[in-house]
Amino acid sequence: MLRVAVVGGGPSGSCAAEVLAKAGIQTWLFERKLDNAKPCGGAIPLCMVEEFDLPESIIDRKVRNMRMISPSNREVDIHLENSSEYIGMCRREIFDAFLRNRAAALGAHLVNGLVQSIDTGTDRQGPYTLHYADYSSGGPTGELKTLEVDLIIGADGANSRVAKAMDAGDYNVAIAFQERIRLPAEEMAYYEDLAEMYVGTDVSPDFYAWVFPKYDHVAVGTGTMQANQSLIKGLQKGIRERASRRLLGGEVIKVEAHPIPEHPRPRRVVGRMALVGDAAGYVTKSSGEGIYFAAKSGRMCAEEIVAASDSGRRIPSEKDLKVYIRKWDRKYGATYKVLELLQNIFYSNDAAREAFVEMCDDKDVQRLTFDSYLYKRVVPMNPWQQIKLTVLTLAAVLRGQALAPAGYKPVPSAVRTSEEAEALMAAVAPRSAMKPAEGRPASSPDPEAGQDSQREPALAAK
Ligand SMILES: Cc1cc2nc3c(=O)[nH]c(=O)nc-3n(C[C@H](O)[C@H](O)[C@H](O)COP(=O)(O)OP(=O)(O)OC[C@H]3O[C@@H](n4cnc5c(N)ncnc54)[C@H](O)[C@@H]3O)c2cc1C
Repeated sequence: MLRVAVVGGGPSGSCAAEVLAKAGIQTWLFERKLDNAKPCGGAIPLCMVEEFDLPESIIDRKVRNMRMISPSNREVDIHLENSSEYIGMCRREIFDAFLRNRAAALGAHLVNGLVQSIDTGTDRQGPYTLHYADYSSGGPTGELKTLEVDLIIGADGANSRVAKAMDAGDYNVAIAFQERIRLPAEEMAYYEDLAEMYVGTDVSPDFYAWVFPKYDHVAVGTGTMQANQSLIKGLQKGIRERASRRLLGGEVIKVEAHPIPEHPRPRRVVGRMALVGDAAGYVTKSSGEGIYFAAKSGRMCAEEIVAASDSGRRIPSEKDLKVYIRKWDRKYGATYKVLELLQNIFYSNDAAREAFVEMCDDKDVQRLTFDSYLYKRVVPMNPWQQIKLTVLTLAAVLRGQALAPAGYKPVPSAVRTSEEAEALMAAVAPRSAMKPAEGRPASSPDPEAGQDSQREPALAAK
């Protein structure tokens, strides 16, 4: 009977393990930290709820309003008219635990263990021996153990050890930095069903910055290419400043940083080892979305294994596993290319960012954007809509040149006047007010740590 190890209990690993376990295949799902809170905005598309049979209880907030804020502080609101449509906001510790436990309930052996190294056999063809520290008895160091399997799914995120063992090659990464900020209830009410996206060189030279609502706090963050990593503290300060009037009385409860892959690794299948999710490099450009694609790739890879192994009766070959890659690239290759193109056009300078926000004011653009995000489908457009979009793009880019500012002003608050905001900011007691995100090193991702650099509320004013 086929033996499969899935390394990593995030969305990609759990969704792979679920399919394998359901098919009766012997499956071990390794997760180094069962209460792991992956640094993440936690936004998921609506289609994921149904497709992955997610209960409403793991969705903290249903966001129906997205506010885009341009470099010149132009605000464009995108509203989901249909009350059944929303973007789900989740806490990853809850979300991941649900998927992991479901896989375990279906028969996967859930191992609370850190995979430290892998013997890959002759020509990396297996069988594979995993060396891991088992933490299930609760000790701090773990008990060293080994397990032999026929096949490995590497679902261990951006710092994947499976990718190293299989010599999958490197990918470029972006660095994302995020602060979790708890707000007083009256400030939190503003973010009830609203998420914000800020663009501008002050908040990110190549992506966007965000304020996403969570259960009882907001996640405020930004990302940039690794080449600009040294700017990250200044960029985080930029988003804090731009959103400052909406974050009154906030207290930083967590600071986190993590790499985001920029493109797939050169090799995603070697021998009987396959990569999925962030380990493979499946985050989209422009939006930085990876949760859905992680879950989907885990599922698609596992489905291929079930089919090729005749539900575990034989060991699939490298060629069999590569069918998953072919199907993946066929299904999503164009999506990745289009989003990369959009990122290159619209995030390249402030004029283009102005144009991008201006374009988002158009109802056709909003519907197109939301449909492709929420339902992961490309909406057919009639010729008139296509012409309109092309003209709109050109006009917006030209207008953006004129509007793009030399400097930045704080964003006028949507909930109060500038005078009110200034009076409140002056009155907020220093103990509960936030300090700027400088004066301490940004938590840069440690490739050997294998995961996040979560910290305690060091930025909260003392
Ligand atoms: C700041 C930030 C914000 C983001 N916001 C969003 C967003 O709003 N929406 C969205 O769709 N995407 C977002 N993303 C991307 C998203 O977080 C990832 O694409 C997604 O988590 C990938 O899932 P995964 O299962 O492939 O990997 P991960 O979620 O990284 O899971 C890997 C798991 O493997 C475990 N692990 C690692 N190494 C080992 C080992 N050696 N042994 C055992 N276990 C191991 C880890 O503990 C972890 O639980 C964001 C990313 C960042 C950094």
